[in-house]
Amino acid sequence: MAEDHKMTYADPWMLPETKGFWEALNDGKLVIRTCNDCGRGHHFPRAMCPHCYSSNLEWKESDGTGTIYSFTAQQVKGGGKYVYAYVEIADRVRAITNIVDCDPDALQIGQKVKAAFRPSASGQNILVFTPA
Ligand SMILES: [Zn+2]
Repeated sequence: MAEDHKMTYADPWMLPETKGFWEALNDGKLVIRTCNDCGRGHHFPRAMCPHCYSSNLEWKESDGTGTIYSFTAQQVKGGGKYVYAYVEIADRVRAITNIVDCDPDALQIGQKVKAAFRPSASGQNILVFTPA
């Protein structure tokens, strides 16, 4: 069994349109920016809906589950593999993230995953996923 590399995370940029996302992560929740006009979600959070350009948006709490849309694993010098992935967190809404606490060689596209959190340098929760 291969092991995932234990990654350290830099602090994220805190922008007004992403603040709610980061605050929710610190509460152990995953929220998705969702448009009240066209009904579609998007990620990363933006000030305007990328589908219809409405600014009538709200945060919708996710159940924290997702599906691996695509991924790659990179061997890290010193041991382990680092897994980059696109995880579908809602219908057609995908997040670029890492899969942690897993056997990188056993991951599969379409596999169910669940949200997990890792602290950045300053303690801000960073969204990652682990096999469900
Ligand atoms: Zn919209």
